[in-house]
Amino acid sequence: MIRAQLLDGTKCASDITVQIAQTVAMMQGRKPAIAFILVGSNPASQTYVRMKKKACATTGINSYLLELNAAISSCDLLNQIDRLNKDPNIDGILVQLPLPTHIDEKHIMQAIEPTKDVDGFHPINMGKTLLGDLSARVPCTPLGIQTLLEHNKISVSGKHVVVVGRSNIVGKPLAAILVQKNPRCNATVTLCHSSSEHLSKHTSSADILIAAVGKPHFITQNMVRPGAIVVDVGINRIDGKIIGDVDFANVASVASWITPVPGGVGPMTIAMLLKNTLTCYQNL
Ligand code: NAP
Repeated sequence: MIRAQLLDGTKCASDITVQIAQTVAMMQGRKPAIAFILVGSNPASQTYVRMKKKACATTGINSYLLELNAAISSCDLLNQIDRLNKDPNIDGILVQLPLPTHIDEKHIMQAIEPTKDVDGFHPINMGKTLLGDLSARVPCTPLGIQTLLEHNKISVSGKHVVVVGRSNIVGKPLAAILVQKNPRCNATVTLCHSSSEHLSKHTSSADILIAAVGKPHFITQNMVRPGAIVVDVGINRIDGKIIGDVDFANVASVASWITPVPGGVGPMTIAMLLKNTLTCYQNL
């Protein structure tokens, strides 16, 4: 039995997208523009870039796709990034991950001009995010989770938020955002990972549980406190279906709020990419 209310990312993302489209429509002259760099032919990456380009098109943000051969050298890729960094008609640059194994992702991310870093993965933006500096480009998925909670009038202030997963793109920046000393944040954050002992003890003490593990149905009902709010970041492809990190059917019978997969955090991530692109344009 589903007891939980849905944290509807599709609806929230759609509202944000409409607002962005209205803002872009009122702009005189050049419209915001983002360049996507896709290296190789990873089908999931191709799908993600296609979805992001489609979202740009619905708002009037111009998008350009640079498709590069998987065998490209780091040097040639860096030259392409340098060209886009200097292009005054490009506001945002997104290098779709993962990159082929012969390319050092960290090195590539550091080459993107921080003011055009729509993903927020550059060390300068990561550092600013940690410091709570409002000029940071905040990584899209954590920003999307924060926005989705706020949109549903769920405050994290004073709450125990348990994040399972400490990746640089989700878990760590999310913990850094939610723990900031300001009324929008002020959470008490526990960040768990694969070496965490007694994981269930942590998860079942959460007021808000966020799963970013990358393992289908990893969070089961007995790991969730009745009435908790559950956010599922996971995207796992099983037999052509997308499955989250949370055992939705069973956890939804005890949680008070829960994100569906698909239709939860995924659309919010794309909406935040549009928002970050707009911010880059406005600040350029
Ligand atoms: P990741 O880099 O693979 O990180 C996974 C994290 O889970 C790691 O910190 C890992 O711990 C932890 N973990 C793995 N097994 C665990 C266990 N048994 N107990 C506790 N922690 C465990 O993944 P990611 O990039 O953060 O992505 C996580 C999931 O979110 C994936 O399914 C991904 O596809 C999805 N995702 C979705 C969106 C979206 O827009 N919806 C965006 C980004 C990612 P260690 O650090 O100790 O290895």
